[in-house]
Amino acid sequence: MTTDPPFDWEAFLDRLGAFYHIGDWRVPYLRDHAEDPFQVLIGTILSQRTRDENTDTASARLFAKYPDARTLARATARQIEPLIRETGFYHTKARAIRACAQEILDRFGGVVPRTLEELTTLPSVGPKTANCVLVFGYGIPGMPVDTHVHRISNRLGVVRTDTPEETEAALRASVPERYWIPVNPLLVQHGQNLCRPIHPKCPECPVRSLCATGRALAKGRAPPRPADGPGRAPGNRPMARAGRRAGPGRRLASGTPVRSRAAAASRRPRGSRRR
Ligand code: SF4
Repeated sequence: MTTDPPFDWEAFLDRLGAFYHIGDWRVPYLRDHAEDPFQVLIGTILSQRTRDENTDTASARLFAKYPDARTLARATARQIEPLIRETGFYHTKARAIRACAQEILDRFGGVVPRTLEELTTLPSVGPKTANCVLVFGYGIPGMPVDTHVHRISNRLGVVRTDTPEETEAALRASVPERYWIPVNPLLVQHGQNLCRPIHPKCPECPVRSLCATGRALAKGRAPPRPADGPGRAPGNRPMARAGRRAGPGRRLASGTPVRSRAAAASRRPRGSRRR
């Protein structure tokens, strides 16, 4: 019986880091330039179900007025709502972020907690948001899994999972911790540019030789997991249906890869956000 060799995370991260010009992922840039954990937390909640540009605008406006838990907890939902309106669901989000600020004040002395267990006890904070706070707010190894990380991990063949939650557990179990921090920013960057939900640009991909799907397609074979392959979008939906669900503005523009939100995770200026 033969077994597959372990996935070469070092080569994978090297190639993606070079391709997207984000520098050496080994340099602990995030540990030295981590964002304000409170603003990462609130910005990530605001980013739910909206476009990055909307989150950026709303976050800048919100944090200019309420930069920390103490000031945000004192605000009323009515004062918060107009500042975050373009993120959608702003009634709900205003209440959620205010409640979150209040709990951080009441239970954690105004300091955002540093563990997954504590973070996920806060209102509207699930595993992805909590992991974002660890990685981007504190520079602590975590595994934020969004749709890009879930889809690409399955295409690569490093996991065989059906949900982001399963993917997080599988990646935590199989990826050495020294690789955790750069995984999310690089996979999100890749998912926004080449490894798109539908029609990934495998012939242009710098990690094709490491990817189970890329290798299979290059040999004219079906991808090992068709649900994640180029003919299907995430969630096992037929491509045509998924394309309609994507809707205007959600398809990625074609062309040369560009830096993007998650892209720049290792050199993001303060005040910006991520999901
Ligand atoms: S080879 Fe294709 S499926 Fe694999 S990571 Fe690259 S773009 Fe994605």
